[in-house]
Amino acid sequence: MRASFFDARRLIEYLSSVQGEQRQKLVEELGFHATLIFVQSDLVALLFLVSVTMQNVQIAIIGSGFGGIGAAIRLKQEGFEDFMIFERADEVGGVWRDNTYPGCACDVQSHLYSLSFVPNPDWTHSFSPQAEIWDYLRKCARDYKLLPHVRFGHMVTEAVWENDQQRWRIETSKGTFMASLLISAAGSFSEPKLPQFRGLETFKGKMFHSSRWDHQFEIKRSRIAVIGTGASAIQFVPAIQPQVEKLYLFQRTPPWIVRRHDRPFAQLERKLFRRFPVVQLLMRAGIYSFREVLGFAFRHPWAMKLLQPLARRHLKRSVADPVLRAKLTPNYLMGCKRILISNDYLPALTQPNVELITDGIAEVRQHSVVGNDGVERAVDAIIFGTGFHVSDFPFAGRVRGRAGRTLSEVWAGSPKALAGTTVAGFPNLFLIPGPNTGLGHSSVVYMLEAQIEHVLTALVYMRRNGVAAIEPRSEAQEAYVARVDKSMRGTVWTSGGCLSWYLDTTGRNSTLWPTPSWRFRRRVARFAPREYVME
Ligand SMILES: Cc1cc2nc3c(=O)[nH]c(=O)nc-3n(C[C@H](O)[C@H](O)[C@H](O)COP(=O)(O)OP(=O)(O)OC[C@H]3O[C@@H](n4cnc5c(N)ncnc54)[C@H](O)[C@@H]3O)c2cc1C
Repeated sequence: MRASFFDARRLIEYLSSVQGEQRQKLVEELGFHATLIFVQSDLVALLFLVSVTMQNVQIAIIGSGFGGIGAAIRLKQEGFEDFMIFERADEVGGVWRDNTYPGCACDVQSHLYSLSFVPNPDWTHSFSPQAEIWDYLRKCARDYKLLPHVRFGHMVTEAVWENDQQRWRIETSKGTFMASLLISAAGSFSEPKLPQFRGLETFKGKMFHSSRWDHQFEIKRSRIAVIGTGASAIQFVPAIQPQVEKLYLFQRTPPWIVRRHDRPFAQLERKLFRRFPVVQLLMRAGIYSFREVLGFAFRHPWAMKLLQPLARRHLKRSVADPVLRAKLTPNYLMGCKRILISNDYLPALTQPNVELITDGIAEVRQHSVVGNDGVERAVDAIIFGTGFHVSDFPFAGRVRGRAGRTLSEVWAGSPKALAGTTVAGFPNLFLIPGPNTGLGHSSVVYMLEAQIEHVLTALVYMRRNGVAAIEPRSEAQEAYVARVDKSMRGTVWTSGGCLSWYLDTTGRNSTLWPTPSWRFRRRVARFAPREYVME
């Protein structure tokens, strides 16, 4: 049951008609403070309305993906109960709720790509499919009793730091909230990126982004243009190829692709994980360590050159035609863009109903796409596998700090934060994920967890010392960012000869963490008061 402010009067009348425990339960369900008193007069109704439209909470979390859910669970475990999660959708799950395209799955093994404090012995595959990951997140929310904290359908439109009150004013599509602390877990892959082509608006067929898959559209026997060859496209292209009449794949840059070593877990294995959690823990540690060894190659391009033949061999085995193979061979060092894993993408491209186009798009017409090769290809649908707004942090435009400027304005195209999490001029704001907290070789959830622990150490410090507001000292933040940038130099991401979505508009890699991931965890595990201004 949800309250609309216009219904407040009727709601009060209704509440007046129910008694005792039932009323208390209703009040809690509605999400108002349980201290709500029995009200009848119009004046009190007005006060009630004000209190409903301006709710107070200690901690506000924006988003209910891995970041938001992980933060909420850890807050509860540490005894912080006064928090709300604002979620614009009607379900928890983040990218795993939104990306329902055929073939969607994680590309880091599930036993690592999950919350360490909520192990799941029941993963069915090494790389579990989207539905299973989404179920896992929903189960986390249910099991840890997070749902009463979630305000669904609350799109956060703006968050403004109120200097005099030392609190965040959070404007949502369903009212205003005040919070002492703001954890932004709005995601780096939550805003689809759409390309601009001449005539795109005139197209009369179906158009959608991979993360907003239109399941009403009959894909069978239709002619499809797929734009983009990134991590999502290489999953859905082989899934739809056998069904479509024609698939035109528009590729700007070929990705490096290696084999995907997926396998189902036998019942016996799952039983073993359930009975002896340490076995699952060892498995997680093994996957983590292997990936960290791989991480070395990203920091030392000469080592990456030694690994590159693996991908070349995979390409040669999958694609016999030398002309097609040439089009699929990257001209930059492996790892510079995200390395993709697939066994069926390259073989799908060799099928007679697939055409790979590498000259780009000249224009889109009502029922066709015209390539720069001058060929007009009739299509029923255009599917964008064009990725997300990552390095520009779309949510940053909605957060206004101490000086009234937004994060986007302060960052001016290049996001920077202390410990990848806190920003000078933005008190009591924690960004998970934040700048330079992504990984090219391992699980993002590992980094989110490290950041969550950082938030908790800060919170505990504030509680113990009666601190109302903290924000990083500019010089501490600058020194931190300078160290990150220094470590980034010479990595495959900056010297591999490609332009990737890791780079921001200034050309800086503000997306990835450049050294072993355990170093990030160690660095942010402690809260160093000297790096902060406190009030
Ligand atoms: C298809 C796909 C596959 C991926 N696979 C992997 C993988 O295998 N390994 C890996 O490490 N990473 C992977 N990633 C990256 C992935 O983004 C992260 O691993 C992780 O899921 C991010 O979680 P999050 O909580 O930070 O963000 P999200 O999952 O994006 O959650 C953010 C939430 O915030 C909500 N929100 C956003 N803005 C607002 C607003 N203004 N008001 C209210 N709510 C808002 C959104 O609705 C969403 O629910 C993948 C990403 C995608 C898209």
